[in-house]
Amino acid sequence: MRFSDVRHQDRALSLVRRALCSERMAHAYLFEGPEGVGKELAARALAARLLCEDDALAPDADACGQCPSCRLIAADNHPDFHLIHRGLHKLHPDRSIRQRKGLFLAVDLIRHFLIEPAAMKPAQGRRRVFLIRDAERMNEEAQNALLKTLEEPPGAACLILVTASAARLLPTIQSRCQRVPFGTLPLEFVAEELARRSGAAAVDARWLAELSGGRLGVALRWQQIDLLGTLEAVGDCLDRVSEGDPEAFAKGLIELATALAERARPGADDDAEEEPDEEDDAPRSAGRRVPTDELREALKLALLLVGACCRDALLTRFGVAAPASTSRLRRVPALVAEASFDRLEAGLRAVREAEYMLDRNVAPQLVGERLAVALLGELPVS
Ligand SMILES: [Zn+2]
Repeated sequence: MRFSDVRHQDRALSLVRRALCSERMAHAYLFEGPEGVGKELAARALAARLLCEDDALAPDADACGQCPSCRLIAADNHPDFHLIHRGLHKLHPDRSIRQRKGLFLAVDLIRHFLIEPAAMKPAQGRRRVFLIRDAERMNEEAQNALLKTLEEPPGAACLILVTASAARLLPTIQSRCQRVPFGTLPLEFVAEELARRSGAAAVDARWLAELSGGRLGVALRWQQIDLLGTLEAVGDCLDRVSEGDPEAFAKGLIELATALAERARPGADDDAEEEPDEEDDAPRSAGRRVPTDELREALKLALLLVGACCRDALLTRFGVAAPASTSRLRRVPALVAEASFDRLEAGLRAVREAEYMLDRNVAPQLVGERLAVALLGELPVS
């Protein structure tokens, strides 16, 4: 857990190093920026440095990696390092909280796992360090409860809030933290790392790097769930649009999104305690139910591929060298191959509109059908 493990985030790291060298270190940091670009890695390096017991180190040097504290943190077993995340509800002493879905960092979670231990003396070192993953998942009540701890952390607690959506945090939370912005990573770097770590073919790695917009963590996850393997199924769906069957297109899209969501799910045992959500109309797949929020996320991935097919077809019209999707697909969907320039552009707009509708809880089947109609060009795309 070293700062040097965090790549291409020079600005963020120089802010952190400057803070470490200053006389009065802030006690709350907001590591903000896109998902999958190294924020948590940097937060862990900072936590390791703050807990390291080697007094001879320069203030902005990496943690020594050798002392008892560094060994404990490397083993994920340091009593003064607290990772706050949504899954913690399963460890809460209250059974009713354990049975929740864990969609949010609710106030009872923040109280039990953060506010209360922050008021206690460190177990072995000089301070306690709290890393809040997906800090924007704290609901308003939880954020308000945290304000006091952020203002005057008892003892020497240090809080590192990590988020990809800082705007969803209350202004009062934002203003009490030192902000450390992270940016996206160079595509070359993402493609190389992806190929090195996952063994993806160079052309696939490059395409996933572009699709992820320079977010290595996201690209790695997509590689893990074989997102590109879904391209063929997306092509089949698009063929159903050409056959003039929006309903079948929507069904196919939901089917492939369900399969994607299944692959993206953590181990089945994790949800053993959860009750099925009664009002969900989510499809079942292989006997299991995919929660609606996960299906929507997977549908967005399917839309991303539909959009990529349209965009690649547009690039081909402009005479740009063979795009990755066409080289990966055995054939270009007829709809995309035959569409006019205007139609492809309208198709891209329709994909964005479909994403918008999904975010506003429009039923997936309806979103799919409207997208098919828009792709066919029978209705004006607004
Ligand atoms: Zn150390």
